Amino acid sequence: MDKFLKTGPRILFLFSDTGGGHRSATEAIIEALQLEVGDQVVTEMVDIFKEYSPRPLNRIPDLYPQLVRVPQAWGLGYRLSNGQHRARLITASAWPYVRRSIRNLVNQHPSDLIVSVHPLATAPVLRALGKTRSTPFITVVTDMVTTHALWYHRGTDLCIVPTEAARQRALMFGLQSEQVEVVGLPVAERFLQPQGDVAGLRRRLGWPVDLPVILLVGGGEGMGPLEKTAQAIAGARLPAALVVIAGRNQNLRLRLQSQNWPIPVFVYGFVREMPEFMQAADILVTKAGPGTISEAFIAGLPLILYSRLPGQEDGNVSYVVSEGAGVWAPEPEQIVSALREWIWHPEKRRRAAAASQKLARPEAARQIARILAERVGVAGREKNGA
Ligand code: UDP
Repeated sequence: MDKFLKTGPRILFLFSDTGGGHRSATEAIIEALQLEVGDQVVTEMVDIFKEYSPRPLNRIPDLYPQLVRVPQAWGLGYRLSNGQHRARLITASAWPYVRRSIRNLVNQHPSDLIVSVHPLATAPVLRALGKTRSTPFITVVTDMVTTHALWYHRGTDLCIVPTEAARQRALMFGLQSEQVEVVGLPVAERFLQPQGDVAGLRRRLGWPVDLPVILLVGGGEGMGPLEKTAQAIAGARLPAALVVIAGRNQNLRLRLQSQNWPIPVFVYGFVREMPEFMQAADILVTKAGPGTISEAFIAGLPLILYSRLPGQEDGNVSYVVSEGAGVWAPEPEQIVSALREWIWHPEKRRRAAAASQKLARPEAARQIARILAERVGVAGREKNGA
């Protein structure tokens, strides 16, 4: 049905395709809303850069994979901009430039609740709404631990964060404790449903049933030294199969698919079946993306983190390692020796898997959905007695 024909309170989600995480989190919340309150609310997603930013900012989602390809430069930018006053300075200097488009956004999407799922959406949209705004505004933070100051705007009504560490940062950056709630990172319902037995899943996917399966992922964009990592793992000739997900990185997928591998290797582009892949795999080797890590916790997968985006993903690494859910292995040889350890000593792998599962917050999306529904005066199924 056309969204304009639907009735009920309208919830506008502000996100952007800078990486895969903001979209995954937003879609997970919308899905959870549907499951919790059905068609009682109308939801809409707006990519703040692609749809409502002047040139060249509207190209940021397309340029993002290149922007983060030089991690040192990204890390420097992150550190230089990461402070309460610096964040305010950045948004204040951008305002004259984005004012018109952000005001258009607000006018063209009248809503009963606005939810920001992107650190760069919050300040300009709150400013466009003005000090006397009547529309409630909620922020859902999709970074895990070392969250950037830009996420935390005092003007937000509620800031939902994934971890206690992120809550502490919110307080450090000036939010009041009643403004912050620790819920978890929203993950799609499909990750919570058992997808069938592992052997059946593997047969369907064409993967070996009798070998440990290593799943290698570099976020939505196939980031980090994926190719070098895949070659090192395969070159070590471990008794295992390797599944490589190149994400939206087409060139990488083609390069990987044209190689001869000494062990069974399965190469994919962007896959929709991540829940099935995670359930069918034994070990996840990944860039330290918050979405992928939270999904792995739910699947109870032990993690080998091989790269991270300096700044916002630094804390993800220390979190996973300190909780015993995985290891940090930035060099291919370190990845191979971690794999060797877990393949030859499955009890160690099982310990890390159990620690990973302990960190799971499978209810996060549903809980967030209930908070949002309540804000717009709609009761969830529980309250309706359904
Ligand atoms: N993802 C996916 N298919 C792919 C690759 C990634 O669905 O082929 C999803 C993954 O499950 C996760 C998101 O993309 O939900 C990546 O988010 P993350 O925060 O890990 O990293 P980002 O891409 O934002 O840096």
